[in-house]
Amino acid sequence: MKRNRRIKILATLGPSSDKEEIIMQLAKAGADVFRINMSHASHEVLATTVSYIRNVEKEIGHPLGILVDLQGPKLRIGKFIDGSTNLTQGNIFTLDNDKKDGDNSRIYLPHKEIFSSVSVNDRLLLDDGKIQLKVISVTKGKIKTDIVHGGKLSDKKGISLPDSILGMSSLTKKDKADLQKALENEADWIALSFVQRPEDIYEIRKIVKGRAGILAKIEKPQAISRLEEIITLSDAIMVARGDLGVEMPLEEVPGLQKRMIRLARVHGKPVVVATQMLESMITSPVPTRAEVSDVSTAVFEGADAIMLSAESAAGDYPIKAVKTMDNVAVAVESDDNFQSIIRAQATKPEPTAADAISAATRQIAETLDLSAIVTYTSSGSTGLRAARERPAIPIIALSPNLRTTRRLSLVWGLHCVQTEDAKSLEDMVSRASLISLQEGFAQVGERIAITAGVPLGTPGATNMIRIAFVKKQDK
Ligand code: PGA
Ligand code: MN
Repeated sequence: MKRNRRIKILATLGPSSDKEEIIMQLAKAGADVFRINMSHASHEVLATTVSYIRNVEKEIGHPLGILVDLQGPKLRIGKFIDGSTNLTQGNIFTLDNDKKDGDNSRIYLPHKEIFSSVSVNDRLLLDDGKIQLKVISVTKGKIKTDIVHGGKLSDKKGISLPDSILGMSSLTKKDKADLQKALENEADWIALSFVQRPEDIYEIRKIVKGRAGILAKIEKPQAISRLEEIITLSDAIMVARGDLGVEMPLEEVPGLQKRMIRLARVHGKPVVVATQMLESMITSPVPTRAEVSDVSTAVFEGADAIMLSAESAAGDYPIKAVKTMDNVAVAVESDDNFQSIIRAQATKPEPTAADAISAATRQIAETLDLSAIVTYTSSGSTGLRAARERPAIPIIALSPNLRTTRRLSLVWGLHCVQTEDAKSLEDMVSRASLISLQEGFAQVGERIAITAGVPLGTPGATNMIRIAFVKKQDK
């Protein structure tokens, strides 16, 4: 399962792909992590999909990551008498707490938190932003609005409030039940949707208790304004361009994407770029030039992973979509300008032993043109710091914990292998050398750099670098 690229591919599973046979083909084509979207998957589908992924993992003999994406508080309006209505610009439209079906003057809004959170002049965006309302007045159980952009509005359409901080948690009752199931099924990552504030991350962390990594989906302007705090508290973030592009002007999304990737890299937290990356491949076997360029931008920026949504979940060409991402990533990473572009965003090591060792190892490995960096990482934290350096040569992350190797599958540049802790310095070198050879990263006679903590097997104590020749193995 050696990849010829550093960036990882995250493929969403769904009706087009949640069969064991197809998951196998997706993994072979390049998918490193699979996303199960709880907006669509039932608990039963979650459990069977996880078991399929674990079967495939066993068969290919390489760890695969599983990310369970919680739906979050996706807000929706109620129903209309005729199933839909037409809103005319300049007219007044009211959202209220009356359960009666709506018409072109009013609609039921089944979320009481909204009534206490909006203020005059706030924008309300409906149906992915196609319809825009502006609040004129708020009284008990009634929000009166001016129709800024009208159009057809049908039952149960989504509503976004980019200007209001909602007095609600980003974990709904459904999310809590889904989260329990995800943890029972040993998901490696839990994605939290519509994060608004750092408190949202605290809340989920109290439930997860280290059993999975927590990924904050950045898809609201409220989260952008507290980005650094959210990154610090999360284990990873997602540039969730779908909803972000509804709540913010579309033309600001590319700049925000760069800002998010750069800040996540500074903090050494994995960052995933998501949504519409190869959108046309839902129905076409080839991408557009613009899509290829979009994927390449994420690769050039040094994002940890690029994601497929409907392309792999519900499209006609899930395997081709993964293969296309793989091809683009491999080509970009071997482009003459790639190293200098990715290096331009490098940030200084923090004053810790793990960072000092990671930075020095990168320099040694590049100076001596070594074949690979092998890092012993039991919790995964040294693996993350090694990846943060974005070295020009591959990193092999060794951990005795299968769960660590799965979680690190999302991280830039890490080829993860589960192996016992080394018993002695000699064992450390021969084990690293054997694995480099077996996994296809080095040939006999080439050299590798190894980082570990002495005394061996003590977590969080990376303190040594060793340069070693890869020897012929008699075993
Ligand atoms: P979603 O999140 O696919 O769950 O909506 C990603 C996004 O909004 O971009
Ligand atoms: Mn979203």
